[in-house]
Amino acid sequence: MNDNGYVLRVENLDVQYHTDAGTVYANSQVSFNLKPGERLGLVGESGSGKSTLALAILGMIKPPGRIGGGEIWLENTDLVKLPEEAIRQVRGRQVSMIPQGAMNSLNPVARIKDQLIDGMIDHELGLSRSEMNRMVREALEAVELDPQVAQMYPHELSGGMKQRACIAIAIAMNPKVIIADEPTSALDVVTQRQVMQTIGHLQAQLGSAVILIGHDMGLMAQFVDRIAVMYAGKLVELGSVKDTFTHPMHPYTQMLISSLPRLENKGTFNGIPGITPLLREIPTDCVFNSRCPQAIPICMQRVPKLLEHRPNQWAACHLYQSEEN
Ligand code: SF4
Repeated sequence: MNDNGYVLRVENLDVQYHTDAGTVYANSQVSFNLKPGERLGLVGESGSGKSTLALAILGMIKPPGRIGGGEIWLENTDLVKLPEEAIRQVRGRQVSMIPQGAMNSLNPVARIKDQLIDGMIDHELGLSRSEMNRMVREALEAVELDPQVAQMYPHELSGGMKQRACIAIAIAMNPKVIIADEPTSALDVVTQRQVMQTIGHLQAQLGSAVILIGHDMGLMAQFVDRIAVMYAGKLVELGSVKDTFTHPMHPYTQMLISSLPRLENKGTFNGIPGITPLLREIPTDCVFNSRCPQAIPICMQRVPKLLEHRPNQWAACHLYQSEEN
């Protein structure tokens, strides 16, 4: 935890991709923080910049991408300033990722045990073979897998077991922050629920903070404490689950919520007319104005700032402009 009580603090993060077709501003001035043990949901359509943000926190933005500005503080270390070797030591050990389609990320020709041990060796933990074996057993037990699974290859496991094995790899070194990128999207509904319960139990046991990335608002409502809504590379709303679902402020969030029949019902956002634009230049207006049913003239002229319009509820929208100045 840093001096402010946060385990992670992202400040004014800009991430750009330079392509032959021009620069894409994938994250633009993104700021948020995370307390130890907190669960934050990161939602938005494809192309909203959620996965780019996760990669930036993991120090995995590679050319043609680059971090154009901003800070990512993990406790008292600014990850943006760390050299590659140092960030490799942070990745997996202090910040880990359960990737999208995680079960396909396992090495098909390596036993589960070796895939777990590889991470420990990479991080030069200086453990003896018997200590590593103990950690493998504990990680598998933590995700409710039989220790025998250590000796198995991925093709011998069901989809749900593979997903649990991936979670075991992600939590084996007790990370402070776990980023789960749509961790259950390829699983059936019953297995999804079990896997989310497992992630929840583990997170509570380890005291890790979790960033859950996805677009399933029903899953978010059940799992996270706060929700951050992204649109076209920008954070447009941030607040508690209760506030976000009972009185969403940003029109985009309102449209996301209205696609759900009821708070407690599980559902997936199916679409808002139009598509998320790729930002090819720094915007000078509201990035949502072409799709927003509530747009007013100033929306075409000025970028709304993300401001705290209600206690602990932040939105970037000119509808609350009288409170902006
Ligand atoms: Fe809609 Fe204007 Fe708010 Fe943007 S700033 S979301 S266009 S009302």
